[in-house]
Amino acid sequence: MILIWVGVDDTDSTSGGCTTYVACMLIKELTKEKYDIIGYPRLVRLNPNIPWKTRGNGAVSFLVGKGEGKKTKIGEIREKEVFSYETSSDDSNYDRLKEIVEQVIEEYAILGDENTNSGFVLFRNPPSYEVYLKTVRGIVSLKEVKELLDSSAWYFKGFKNGRGLIGATASVAWTPVRDRTFELITYRKKEKWGSPRFVDDVSTKKMDKIVSSTFDNYDYENHHNRLVPNSPCPVLYGVRGENPVDLFKAKSIVKSEKVDSWIIFETNQGTDDHLQEKNIRDIQPYDSVITQGVVSKEPFTLQGGHVVFEIKDETGFIDCAAYEPTKQFRKIVRKLIPGDMVEVYGGVRETPFTVNLEKIRVKMLVEKYEKVENPVCPVCGKHMKSIGRNQGYRCIKCGSKSNYPIVKRAERGLKPGFYEVPVCARRHISKPLKRIKRENGESKLNHKSF
Ligand code: ATP
Repeated sequence: MILIWVGVDDTDSTSGGCTTYVACMLIKELTKEKYDIIGYPRLVRLNPNIPWKTRGNGAVSFLVGKGEGKKTKIGEIREKEVFSYETSSDDSNYDRLKEIVEQVIEEYAILGDENTNSGFVLFRNPPSYEVYLKTVRGIVSLKEVKELLDSSAWYFKGFKNGRGLIGATASVAWTPVRDRTFELITYRKKEKWGSPRFVDDVSTKKMDKIVSSTFDNYDYENHHNRLVPNSPCPVLYGVRGENPVDLFKAKSIVKSEKVDSWIIFETNQGTDDHLQEKNIRDIQPYDSVITQGVVSKEPFTLQGGHVVFEIKDETGFIDCAAYEPTKQFRKIVRKLIPGDMVEVYGGVRETPFTVNLEKIRVKMLVEKYEKVENPVCPVCGKHMKSIGRNQGYRCIKCGSKSNYPIVKRAERGLKPGFYEVPVCARRHISKPLKRIKRENGESKLNHKSF
């Protein structure tokens, strides 16, 4: 049998389920029937701005083979064994594989929910990386995906409207060529699903300090344990990190209710793969962008605590928003003033048409002056009086006028550098500054995360 890529998506709903759990159950069933899973299963996050996602727009895929004595171990990369396969043409293996995937999806997908439209795909040769890039950065139609599947998939099946085929295909098209991270996900015992989770905060913080290659574990300012999801899904907790071996160590430190099963995924989480550099004029709804501009309107706070400001470049203007859930990050944004140069990172909403900030790089700050006192009359040597709001000053003795009060340079309370939203507000796919720092070297960046 040759190797087959399996991709699955859209099996969960807001009331339960999780596509990673379906992958875990599938792998369990497949290994029971002596199929091999080659390499790590993959958890691929796609366009975070699409309105019809359940939560984090994740899809899963993995490579399956059937050893049957023809498997040759060709090497070992740390914890990961690498095998080569000789092919045999036993078609019954294919049919059984197809059957198992279908049965497991039917058993675990929440197909009763009107928004769950599961899909699975089986490929001998994965689709091109471009298919992934398009799905993580733009909007893809089911029609174009079906055309691709008709011409290149070995088998595929969509349930209900079949929209899950889009993510399932894109997850097979992802390959960790640019960047990748890992996530160890633990699952709860079935009888616990839907009840409050027990994952100990103290041990989570301990793990965060000890296992430095992990990220987005705990939000110290907002007292939020980010390992733990807040939906009624089967996941108990997930630890994200650079290195799969360290994730085992992390798991041994975190104290929690009993773990039923666990799995490690290779992922595009924390990579910023969704972002594209764009001029303001070229930004479209549902894009995720990096764009540079000069602050053109003072930040203001909307009802609900959302902070909005406008930037401009030579091609146009756009609003940028730090929404209420970004908590302390809004304090940074409020300190910006017209003339500051910034680079913003974030997803774009259609209505309102704004860049929803994930990170900001303050590139240059203008000087800010504040009034100390009214101007002094050059004739009489006395302080002038204000004529009225924005109308200047006049000397009450001789009538001399001035438009300019005495000012001093104000403290900006902000430095050039990178700032990011707090852990509790971070998107799965956003690259944390911790990772950017690691790549660029600690000392080169001025940065702050909240
Ligand atoms: P979870 O992360 O909990 O698994 P989810 O947030 O992934 O849930 P889904 O239930 O999978 O949400 O719904 C997302 C749907 O959007 C899927 O059907 C997927 O195929 C589709 N989709 C993903 N990316 C795109 C895209 N770029 N364009 C169009 N459709 C997309």
